[in-house]
Amino acid sequence: MSHPSMRSTEQEIIRLYRDKGFSERAISRRFGIGRYEVWKTIREAGCVRTMWSPFGQPGISRECEFKGEGCLGEFKSTSPKQKYCGACQLAARRARQLAHQLAKYAADPKAAAEKAKQNRWKRRKAAGQPCRPIGSMGRCEYRDKRGKRGDGCEIKFKRRSSAQKYCDPCQKHADADRAQAYRDENREKVRARDRKRWENVKDVRARLALAEAAHQQPKRGRGRPEKKEQRNSLKIGLRVEKKIATDRKLNKTAISDARWLVARETSLSYDTVAEYHREFRTNNPGYKIA
Ligand SMILES: [Zn+2]
Ligand SMILES: [Zn+2]
Repeated sequence: MSHPSMRSTEQEIIRLYRDKGFSERAISRRFGIGRYEVWKTIREAGCVRTMWSPFGQPGISRECEFKGEGCLGEFKSTSPKQKYCGACQLAARRARQLAHQLAKYAADPKAAAEKAKQNRWKRRKAAGQPCRPIGSMGRCEYRDKRGKRGDGCEIKFKRRSSAQKYCDPCQKHADADRAQAYRDENREKVRARDRKRWENVKDVRARLALAEAAHQQPKRGRGRPEKKEQRNSLKIGLRVEKKIATDRKLNKTAISDARWLVARETSLSYDTVAEYHREFRTNNPGYKIA
């Protein structure tokens, strides 16, 4: 190709093909040379396609049209069609593919969804994942610790998903097994969580009781002092209760400490606070359980 006469002969031939309407791709295939080489030869032979913009010519510095993350901005193109810098090429291709997919979906959602399903299927198969058709019959694979079928196992089941392995009753067993395994592995975490939940329940119950008591309280007239006592027992009792650690609910020292604290805070006597607290525990048995 370096020899001048060779070059001119080659140019002539390529030009001939070009004039016959062969694309530069077809020519490059026929001669086993790169398309860029063909394009250069055609150009040198004075037969440039006018549809290429001046920016489309290789080797010319041009601005990236994608400008994605980490874009290099200006770049030297290596082919007439290169529109994006090296950093953006992949992202640009992805974006174009996505746009294409979306357009296809918009044109015919049903067909596109079907095609997507088939492709998903192919990918799954290629990755060696289970690809059993939805709606086909399967045999339940669930076995318990002793290697026996689950209670109420239907043995056969109709697949709702490709990955489904168990019949409905056994799915419940499998879920329970998994939950139990989690509890066994995270004993402390689960205990703390349960404790927190129980605390919340107790808190809500106490609040409700308090609200109810406040609601029932008559504005004036008979019976008021008694109701007031009741409300105090709830208020003070709850206050004491909150000062006793969950795991020390039945500890006498902890209880009296809490009562002392509340007595000091409310400037009531210890005995009054203790009485309210006792009353509170009688009315709210939930608080006795630690
Ligand atoms: Zn770029
Ligand atoms: Zn089963």
